[in-house]
Formats: sequence, structure tokens, C-alpha cells
Amino acid sequence: MGRVFVAGSINMDVVATADRHPKVGETVAGRQVLYFPGGKGANQAVAASRLGARTTLIGRLGKDSFGAELKVFLRSQGIDLGYLQETTAAHTGTAIITVAEADNTIVVIPGANALVDADDVSVVPLLDGDVAVSQFEIPLPAIAAFFQRARAAGAATLLNPAPAQSMPGELLALVDILVLNETELGFLAGTELSDGDEAARIIEVTRRLQARPDQTICVTLGRRGVLALAGREEISVPGRAVQAVDTTGAGDCFVGALAARLADGTALRDALTFANAAASISVQRMGAGPSMPTAKEVAAVL
Ligand code: ADP
Repeated sequence: MGRVFVAGSINMDVVATADRHPKVGETVAGRQVLYFPGGKGANQAVAASRLGARTTLIGRLGKDSFGAELKVFLRSQGIDLGYLQETTAAHTGTAIITVAEADNTIVVIPGANALVDADDVSVVPLLDGDVAVSQFEIPLPAIAAFFQRARAAGAATLLNPAPAQSMPGELLALVDILVLNETELGFLAGTELSDGDEAARIIEVTRRLQARPDQTICVTLGRRGVLALAGREEISVPGRAVQAVDTTGAGDCFVGALAARLADGTALRDALTFANAAASISVQRMGAGPSMPTAKEVAAVL
């Protein structure tokens, strides 16, 4: 059985709730402050680990109290932290979120995440059958080095290009499985896509983005499920009708779940069905990390 290696961001999300947002220059009294482990890399590693994959997280934390707390949390999730670096050159990645009047504002300071480099991924023991996962919250050269190593070792590469930013064609060519939402697909393909777009249109745009004939591109469609183009084959998995309460981290849950099943040799169609079910459970719970389901919970709805 292969392992999942995630190279990515680790953040502390600091959430302040208040009755209303302050105006510029104003101070308002808040109600509550909450601390949540976050960052796409960490969220996806938590999902993969909870879903039964042997999971290693590669990234950077600051040598500070948030870093120490995050390490305790990630270890409690069964994630291997042997390739995590601690740095004194920056603070742990932090997101400052204010929630008021059902709206939020977010300031993210990448901190130590911005210092992840090619050296950090150069010693990772990737093997044939493993799955190497990354996202766009660490520098692109580190992702490229990680994927080059993975491919040389016979591991599959899975990229979640979020938050969207343009990427060199050489990086896209290193990707075996691209997982992105409609907004990211539209951005990377240089076209407008909207919520109601038909499957045929999405597949047509996806086909244009395909960098290699054997590349798999999975487009997550929120409550509508997922559409994938695997080489020339089209796969559609309909969304599950659930009562969503918080979709934060749904994409991260999907990516972690897909990686976990691909690492244990599950065929793509079944792995997509599993990931779609896992993500549909996560949207029924609050938060990102804490909302990730276990394999038993997913099996119960399939
Ligand atoms: P992102 O969070 O990256 O924008 P999506 O919104 O496309 O990603 O959601 C990722 C996956 O989560 C979807 O493909 C689906 O499996 C699941 N999902 C998201 N929203 C819902 C929902 N309202 N009902 C059921 N499943 C959902």
C-alpha cells in the first residue's frame, strides 16, 4: 500500500467573532476568539490520515507557540512530521479572520510557509505507488522539485492549484492528477466559467488545459459533485444531497480523500466516488480540520 506525502502550508487560523465589523480606524469589542489548525497542506494531510492513509506532511513552522500547538495537533492526527522544518526566520503561517454579520474578512500571513524550498523536499523517501500532493500556498519552485522527485521515484503527483495563480507549463506537465474547482479551472484556462455551466462546456475547457494526453483533471463542482477527464475518458460523479452548514475545507477534504484512495490502489472512478462522499460529510460540519470524516463514516454512506 502506498503512502501519501503532502508538501504544503500549515497555518493557525485565528477567528474573532463580533456583532459587526469595525470601520477603518475603529475598535469594536468582539465576542469570542477561536484557534483552528488550518492551511491547505495541513487540512489535506489531516483528511488523508483520518481516512486511513499513512501520511507525511512536509512544510515549515516558526519556532513559536502556534508552531508548537500545530505540531501537537498534527501528531494527534497520526501524521508523520519527520520532514517538517522549524525556522527562526519567520513566524508560523497565520490567518486572521473576523466573522460578523454572516460575513468574514481574512488576512493571511504566509510566514514560514513562504520559506519552503527545494531542499525541504529533497530527502523525502518517495517510492513507487506513493502519492505526492501539493497546493499553491508554498513557493512553486519547491512544488516543482517535489514533483520531479516523485516522478523519478514512480510516485503519482497530485496538484490542487489553489488559491489560483498562474503556473509555468513545465509545472503543469509534472502533474499526473490536477484537482481544481470551477473558478480555478476558469482562471488557468483563461476563460469565464459560471456555476450553472453544463458538463459539456466544463469538459471542453478541461480538455484545453490538459498538458499531457495521460493527465487526469478532476473538476469539483460543489453540491453538483465532480467531473473528471482521465486521458480521454470522462467520469461524472453526481453530488450527494446533503444539508451543508459550512463548506470551508470541502475541497481539501476531497483532495486528501482522493490521495488516500489512490495510494491504496483504488481505481480512479471508485476513488472519486469515495472522495465525493467524504467531502459531502465534511460540509455538514463546522470548520476545516475538525470536519474531516473517518473511513468508517464514509463507508457508512456509500
Ligand atoms: P472548493 O471548496 O475547493 O471550492 P467545491 O466547492 O467544489 O470545492 O467542493 C469540493 C467537493 O465537496 C465537491 O466536489 C463535493 O464532493 C463536495 N461538496 C461541496 N459542497 C457540497 C454540497 N453543498 N453538497 C454536497 N457536497 C458538496
